[in-house]
Amino acid sequence: MPNFRTLDDIDVKGKRVLVRADLNVPMQDGVVTDTLRIDRQAPTIRELAGKGARVIVLSHFDRPKGKVVPSMSLEPVAGPLSKAIGRAVGFNVDTAAMKDGDVVLLENTRFHPGEEKNDLDYARQVAALGDLFVNDAFSAAHRAHATTEAIAHLLPAAAGRSMEQELTHLDKALGNPERPVMAVVGGAKVSTKIALLENLVKRVETLVIGGAMANTFLTAEGIEVGKSLVERDHIETALRVIHLSTESGCAIILPVDAVVAHNFKAHAKHRTVDIRSVGADEMILDVGPKSIDEFKQRLIGTRTLVWNGPLGAFETAPFDKGTVAAAKAVAEATKAGNLLSVAGGGDTVAALNHAGVSDDFTYVSTAGGAFLEWLEGQELPGVAALVASKGV
Ligand code: ADP
Ligand code: MG
Repeated sequence: MPNFRTLDDIDVKGKRVLVRADLNVPMQDGVVTDTLRIDRQAPTIRELAGKGARVIVLSHFDRPKGKVVPSMSLEPVAGPLSKAIGRAVGFNVDTAAMKDGDVVLLENTRFHPGEEKNDLDYARQVAALGDLFVNDAFSAAHRAHATTEAIAHLLPAAAGRSMEQELTHLDKALGNPERPVMAVVGGAKVSTKIALLENLVKRVETLVIGGAMANTFLTAEGIEVGKSLVERDHIETALRVIHLSTESGCAIILPVDAVVAHNFKAHAKHRTVDIRSVGADEMILDVGPKSIDEFKQRLIGTRTLVWNGPLGAFETAPFDKGTVAAAKAVAEATKAGNLLSVAGGGDTVAALNHAGVSDDFTYVSTAGGAFLEWLEGQELPGVAALVASKGV
């Protein structure tokens, strides 16, 4: 477990606490349309205010590129945030007048050119408003920005509850997992996940590859996949991953059968075939039932599972079946107490929601890019700065 402080380790009563949140929420015409991110950040802000801190909330929103762009103001977020924490939230008001338990949301950090440059002067300017820094924005931790990285060196820093949750689960999944560990990687392309595949083969006992990405691996192994999506210029990459897996003793599991169609559209005429029988004018749109059976067999005895990427074109019925069946099997094993399961990635989260099992996984990360960089084994600057931060 990385060694960082949490809210349990800092005394916040009467202190001015700067909380870096990720309130980059979906918004339309100045109205927040999805409060998931707000709900994830609410516990930390509520807890700090409840303990008598003066809470100053920082967040980026969209990409104003260092300029004040009125349509990218955080002002519309103040109301929903107030509702989520059950307290009044002042927007961009003078923080000098705050009392214990007050909460103020400041304006979009990216309105300042120093934010994305990790500028020390801007970080100092913000740090001067607080006594303590709490980073609760794991989803922004892969960026070294002034209010995620530099500032953590200027004030005593701790992880918020959402950051703590994320780091704890990620550590259990790959940092210090119970073995054996299985990784499931799917999605459209090998090319977007090279570093991830190379890292995972070194760290897990079994790597299940599905989705269109599997087509490139199948092609590398000399299997004909017809009109399926294949990245011909990444066959070398697939061969390298296979070579690395042999070196590190990781078993790579490719689909043994597939659901194929002539056209990529909803309810297209389709058939299930052995992986060696894909017709020249057919495309693979999902893994088949035998592949799912093999997956279920391998799940028995597996203690830890990490998942990124759907196993088929799950947005287009009926090519969601493989992903849904695999997701349900993972959910069952998790509920039975046999498995710790962690998943993440934009489309993966959507696929698990579609399967109705998000709540049955041990943890589903909504952090997107930060989750993927962590799967690649990269050090996240926002997390590293928290660990490095000294003294309270
Ligand atoms: P994530 O966002 O979770 O990291 P990706 O973006 O890598 O996942 O991949 C998700 C996409 O891959 C989905 O849109 C899905 O439809 C697509 N996909 C998966 N399998 C196939 C396939 N066999 N053919 C075409 N597209 C596929
Ligand atoms: Mg995606």
